[in-house]
Amino acid sequence: MRTEKKCPHCAAWTTWEKQPNDRCGHCQELLDPVALKEKEGRDEKERVFKENDFFRVREEDNFLMVAVRKVGWVLHAIFAAITWAFLWFVTTFAG
Ligand SMILES: [Zn+2]
Repeated sequence: MRTEKKCPHCAAWTTWEKQPNDRCGHCQELLDPVALKEKEGRDEKERVFKENDFFRVREEDNFLMVAVRKVGWVLHAIFAAITWAFLWFVTTFAG
């Protein structure tokens, strides 16, 4: 659905598709610069999060690195399970 928005820069009404990167049809300025900034901030956070994820297999990984990441992920899962079981044990029998 198309809506109209009053451009904050030239004050003319222009079609607005409610996308963060919509631009004014008259002056080509962004209709919602705040929304675009927020979106870019989110994308950047997501990108950094993915890059920092050790267990994510990267395209440039060779076979060994893929194996290391997969084994690492399994160990991580086992460790998490042990921690969880330990906590369950303590909370169930310590009280
Ligand atoms: Zn404008």
